[in-house]
Amino acid sequence: MFEEQKSQFDPGDPCTTLSVRQHEVSPCACCSSVFADLMQTMEVLDEKLTDPDFWRKRNRCKEQAPRNAVLINAKVLTMDESFSEASAMAIKDGKIVAVGDDAMVRAAADADAEIIDCQGKIILPGFIEPHMHFFPIATIGRFEDIGPFRYPTVESALSRLKTLAENVEADEWIMARQFDPSLQEGVEELTRAELDKVSTSNPVFVYNASLHFGYCNSKALEIAGISKDTPDDPASPYGRDEDGVPNGVLKGGKAIASVVRHNTSRNTDDLAEGCLDVCTRANAVGITTFCDQGTGLVRGVKELDIYRALAESGSMTARLRYSLSYALQDEFDRAGIAYGDGDEMIRATGWKIVSDGSNQGYSGLQREPYLHSEDKGIAYVDASQLKEMVLDRAARGWPLVVHANGDQAIDNTLDAYEAAFDAGLLTNTPWRIEHCSILHDDQIERISKLNLSPSFLIGHVYYWGQAMRDKIFGDAKAELLDRTGACERKGIRWTLHSDDPVTEMGPLRCIENAVSRRMWKEPDRQLAPDECISVESAIRAMTRDAAWQCHSDHEIGSLVTGKYADFILLDRDPRKVPVTEISQIKVLQTWMGGRKVYTCPECLS
Ligand SMILES: [Zn+2]
Ligand SMILES: [Zn+2]
Repeated sequence: MFEEQKSQFDPGDPCTTLSVRQHEVSPCACCSSVFADLMQTMEVLDEKLTDPDFWRKRNRCKEQAPRNAVLINAKVLTMDESFSEASAMAIKDGKIVAVGDDAMVRAAADADAEIIDCQGKIILPGFIEPHMHFFPIATIGRFEDIGPFRYPTVESALSRLKTLAENVEADEWIMARQFDPSLQEGVEELTRAELDKVSTSNPVFVYNASLHFGYCNSKALEIAGISKDTPDDPASPYGRDEDGVPNGVLKGGKAIASVVRHNTSRNTDDLAEGCLDVCTRANAVGITTFCDQGTGLVRGVKELDIYRALAESGSMTARLRYSLSYALQDEFDRAGIAYGDGDEMIRATGWKIVSDGSNQGYSGLQREPYLHSEDKGIAYVDASQLKEMVLDRAARGWPLVVHANGDQAIDNTLDAYEAAFDAGLLTNTPWRIEHCSILHDDQIERISKLNLSPSFLIGHVYYWGQAMRDKIFGDAKAELLDRTGACERKGIRWTLHSDDPVTEMGPLRCIENAVSRRMWKEPDRQLAPDECISVESAIRAMTRDAAWQCHSDHEIGSLVTGKYADFILLDRDPRKVPVTEISQIKVLQTWMGGRKVYTCPECLS
């Protein structure tokens, strides 16, 4: 079956190769052309979204001008090369003008600069999320999250939906997302029988966390006119019960779209608010820069115009770096976009290729078969294709960003990068390996030699660690997951990411996960404790080194004179709290370019 699916590969549509197994269990935003299907269900007007005035009217950030201020009585962790500390920092025109002790910084600042007493709180550089998916999150963000991290059982998720159903208007759709049977205990799929218990009068629709599956109730099927007689598209069929009646399970983008397109309340305003939510949510967890890893998958090249309008209007309260998705290569080439295009707010910094699937979906490409299986996963791009694509893009000046989860996919990526190195094309560094989940010593050796940089989806350890060990790889191979410690010892620069919507953006949570290596389902046990790293290293991975990985360390990532005034105030020092409390530290304020863009609502001053 896997062979058959591989042979249907179409480089323009990476989703065509997804296995049924992956669909069932894997959240995988990297390869989602489902977003295109989803967008077709929304009435979205690009001319509005590319108009700065449209965004200006919705601006959520009260502060539009950078402050001229001196922050004193703080503990400033500068994250400079020597991890030095200071007590004060002066900012002006969006940049840092002095860092040091209170007296020195006050003397260096303008006489009329505003004095802000930080009352001993911690100042860190704004966090940098090096791998997330902006438009995908914006598109589905406003649906109710009933995923495992909020509702560990299917029953609790359904009961949340029931509560929602009590408060909706007649005809209103109840829309939800993130259902993940690989982590939520209970039924494997949500049939109409389950969802009819939520409501029989209102349509109910739920996305699987992978977005490759949808589930709906009888009312939704009825509105969509889907019955026993509706024919199946073999590539995207309806689930059916024994007598052929659709059971509410929708397999693939087309079946999903045939239902959700009847929800006509989704429109430009939803997407706009979704975009602003992404910024708000990022600021609330201390992020001042994020990097979109797969630009174009939702709105094509238009995405760049939308980002531009957002930034111009002042509504974009985090900087954006982006890697163009290889799936839209021709469109981007026609538009003539080049590495480095943009400015300090928005900039093109990479070329993204997805070379395999995901390990928890059994589609990451492995050297050896999965546990209790003959199967080695899926190459979305085979080794020779990958080499060709890497050489082609490198010759055009692009730094490469290749998604590789399985160890064989990482071998293929290293071979391709090495070919570029041999051809003198490994330029505009750093080049990245995304997720880089299963890593052997020989691969770490090669990464070091070629000066490459991995970014780890550290939630793999925390959320899926137990499944990786017991179901997917077995004890020995699970030890090779997310090897931050080994990379650190080797002097390789690495980062951490959320891959939101795979896991939610949360740098402090990522830091805690990497430092503790504890597992969600077995809180007292660690996965591969040798891979633990220090709090300082984990912070560096989400600030200075993430800035470097996003080709921006000349302007952000540490608090030194001349860089942008992107910083956060924390109520406690992550180095001084018990490891398991790091994720609970409060972000009190977030500042971007000298503007305060977030204040914690319950702890403000
Ligand atoms: Zn990925
Ligand atoms: Zn991704």
